Amino acid sequence: MSPLSPLRRPRVGIVALQGDVREHQAILESLGAEVALLRMPADVKGVEALVLPGGESTTMSLLLQSSGLDEELARMVDDRLPMLGTCAGMILLAREVLDGRPDQRCFGAIDVSVRRNAFGRQLDSFEAELSVRHMGAPMHAVFIRAPVVERAGPGVDVMATVDLPGDVARSVPVVCMEGHVIVASFHPELAADGRLHELLLSKVEGD
Ligand code: GLN
Repeated sequence: MSPLSPLRRPRVGIVALQGDVREHQAILESLGAEVALLRMPADVKGVEALVLPGGESTTMSLLLQSSGLDEELARMVDDRLPMLGTCAGMILLAREVLDGRPDQRCFGAIDVSVRRNAFGRQLDSFEAELSVRHMGAPMHAVFIRAPVVERAGPGVDVMATVDLPGDVARSVPVVCMEGHVIVASFHPELAADGRLHELLLSKVEGD
């Protein structure tokens, strides 16, 4: 990973209510970013980019509401802050969630519809070497009860797909980018791969 210049340390917020926060923090710090762990509205001060980790999107959605961070997140989406969401984080950033809980919220930062737990019980968790557009060498992708993208809007760059098993096998997007927002079905942070985080940091204004 290529660390940022010490003169430019963007402040990156990680939604730290639940999920694999520490792994994201380690990668961002190794890239030279300053990390703010977001647990309450006051924590978002000065944040220039945002990471939403993997975990459980239904729980995170409830905790976002009870902490009041939901309004801050909606504001940051409106302000077009660069954002990276992995797995549950991808679900929260989507425009539409399929197979979600009725009270589950998503924030519409990227024009995709995602289906939760799309690989079913048989393939609950798996790992794959994934070739991802703009990324060079394949990424080691750890999928855990992962969502997939069922619909991607016309402005969305589909960066990687996988074959979804089923009666009729089909290829579905698992990494997407639209402007300043990047989402991945899998957990690059668990494989200590910082390339999507680097892409995020490259979108911070003035960088
Ligand atoms: N299945 C989880 C959800 O719906 C996501 C799993 C994960 O983040 N590893 O939120």
